[in-house]
Amino acid sequence: MKITDVAVYKVHYQSFMVRDSEYHSHPGPGHDAVEHMLEITLENGVKGCYMGPIYQDLVLSAVRPVLVGEDIFMRERIWQRLIHLQRLKTEFSDYVLCAIDLALYDALGKTLGIPIWQILGGYRTKVPCYGSIMVGDTLEGGLDSPQAYADYAQKLVAKGYHALKLHTWMPPAVPEASVKLDLEACRMVREAVGPDIPLMLDPYHYYSREEALELAKGLGELDFLWLEEPMDEHSIASYRFLTEASPVPICGPETAPGKYHSRADWISAGASHIGRTGALTSGGITSAMRCVHLYDSFGMTVELHGNSIGNLHILAAIRNGRYFERGLLHPYLDYEQPKPWLNSIYDPMDDDGCVFVPSSPGLGWDWNWEYIEDNKE
Ligand SMILES: [Mg+2]
Repeated sequence: MKITDVAVYKVHYQSFMVRDSEYHSHPGPGHDAVEHMLEITLENGVKGCYMGPIYQDLVLSAVRPVLVGEDIFMRERIWQRLIHLQRLKTEFSDYVLCAIDLALYDALGKTLGIPIWQILGGYRTKVPCYGSIMVGDTLEGGLDSPQAYADYAQKLVAKGYHALKLHTWMPPAVPEASVKLDLEACRMVREAVGPDIPLMLDPYHYYSREEALELAKGLGELDFLWLEEPMDEHSIASYRFLTEASPVPICGPETAPGKYHSRADWISAGASHIGRTGALTSGGITSAMRCVHLYDSFGMTVELHGNSIGNLHILAAIRNGRYFERGLLHPYLDYEQPKPWLNSIYDPMDDDGCVFVPSSPGLGWDWNWEYIEDNKE
């Protein structure tokens, strides 16, 4: 089944999110924004789709010639050609590779008439999730103090979340990150939700070894489930130091480049207790599946980064992944509202704190084609 066309176009929308200088998202004033739709068309007329940050020029000039004429069922050959194409093309990041990989999977699933998780190897139809609280800020009524985190955590548990993860304060929201302030927020959240709710922390990413160990010891006393990315992930030696000494499990790597290759290096170095990958940061489902199977071979649990729809399909197909990361959540935002280009969200949560996996063919997006047509460029 041949690929006949690859197209990218812009879709305009009103965004209420802003990025700070370290690229963390926060609620902000409404403003015009643009997202990109990638469509991969097959000779049977099926379109595989993905909406996200995609470099239009790169995809049309470099990726389109590789894909057009290829057979959608020759997925490994396509994958090998794409990852070789990444070399020396700095704009061809793993985020862009993820967009292409997911659109290819979407086309494949629609052609076969089954959801992606069944192609990957079905294991379950719903997945436990945790509420992932956004990075701290200085907004009144937002996440501006340990008490604000505690109040919000209580509300999230009342909404039905069975587990929570905090992202705490980082520059530029606060001039300096603080282990003391992180632990104060974690202590108040633990007291607010009680001993039975699993809690995790994703703090400032550039603490020293000593600071990260002090943080880990504090979290151990609060019975946290894991600590992720408290130091620069380029230093495997620093993570081995922390993993050997920490009373709380260390989860990683999340943003370290290198896909499954770097995960293998981390495993062999003993640099984390819990593995980490994800469709978005590891270059799509194809790469993340290699990672989760690698972790499984070493008897390791893996946690998937971010709320990508790809992660949901992966988690429905594996045994060694525990949670879907639902968020990011903030008191100002309503996560249950779909993006304007969708009719419904793809990760609704049930009373057990679980997220159902899409059952329709492909990735299972519920596109609002009328909105997309009216706002495309
Ligand atoms: Mg993280």
